[in-house]
Amino acid sequence: ENVILQVNRLKTHFFTINGTVPSVEDVSFTVQKGEKVAIVGESGSGKSVTSLSIMRLLSEAGKIVNGSIHFEGLNLVEASEKEMQRIRGNEISMIFQEPLSSLNPVMTVGKQIMESILMHQKIGKSKAKQQTIELLIKVGIPRAEKVFSSYPHLLSGGMRQRVMIAMALSCQPKLLIADEPTTALDVTIQKQILNIVRELSEKEEVAILFITHDLGVVAELADRVIVMYAGQVVEQGDVFTIFDHALHPYTKALLNSTPKLDFTQEELVPIEGTVPSPTALPTGCRFFDRCKYAAEDCKKEPELVEVSQAHQVRCWLINKENAKTVHV
Ligand code: SF4
Ligand code: MG
Repeated sequence: ENVILQVNRLKTHFFTINGTVPSVEDVSFTVQKGEKVAIVGESGSGKSVTSLSIMRLLSEAGKIVNGSIHFEGLNLVEASEKEMQRIRGNEISMIFQEPLSSLNPVMTVGKQIMESILMHQKIGKSKAKQQTIELLIKVGIPRAEKVFSSYPHLLSGGMRQRVMIAMALSCQPKLLIADEPTTALDVTIQKQILNIVRELSEKEEVAILFITHDLGVVAELADRVIVMYAGQVVEQGDVFTIFDHALHPYTKALLNSTPKLDFTQEELVPIEGTVPSPTALPTGCRFFDRCKYAAEDCKKEPELVEVSQAHQVRCWLINKENAKTVHV
């Protein structure tokens, strides 16, 4: 088995004074060793809550109410906080959009990475320093010695994100979860960071779970794509299937609203409307209000069905009678 992460029927709800917010409903997917998987969706799709559920870093109101998350055989939903700390520090790393908030402002970049290395390996300080410099070079930082002794706020956004990636790699994780890590950066820097992530993943065999709202980013990086809408997976498949043979009306609309890399597209069509609030979902298909194919049938909830090898879609248009429902 090459599966490193298996999320099965994950359901995460938030319990607030104003009621229960069902942010993630019945989400299933797997990540293989060294695979690069992108979860794509607009804000409110549940993609960040999915990644925070995996890390067990939900706010106090958030609770996994159903499903399992197996990481190398261990069900993270049932793991103790102590086990989770070991997993977070050693096996799964996470990087976020704003690295400044995860870096210590009063400690030099080099020292922070060194500390992390010393926590995970039984080696001396000079060896740890050497490894830190190597990591900084690996993530494409020029003049690594100088950056080593810099404070985070003195670095540019792109440099800080590289430092975060170096930090995330310092524990030699098997899985790196990246939640919109390039969103705040300009396009050129964004491309550089994506290249670094891709190369590292390929060289070091780190699996990547990349959370983004940007299909352009998906095209640059992903082997496989999971499209989420209003807390559910609406389509998933390999990157070529999703870009060339998307079937779900939402995926198609997303593609039509995204500039193509080769500029072959005639016109960008923005998707009208917004993702429904999880507390005010339409009955039946959650895309109903924004779908130009919506019909009477769609007032019943569609299931995720496998339409061909490793290609799954949740839509009545596609859901033929004999298609088999996916229950992983
Ligand atoms: Fe549109 Fe109906 Fe398919 Fe939903 S089930 S995406 S409303 S066609
Ligand atoms: Mg998010």
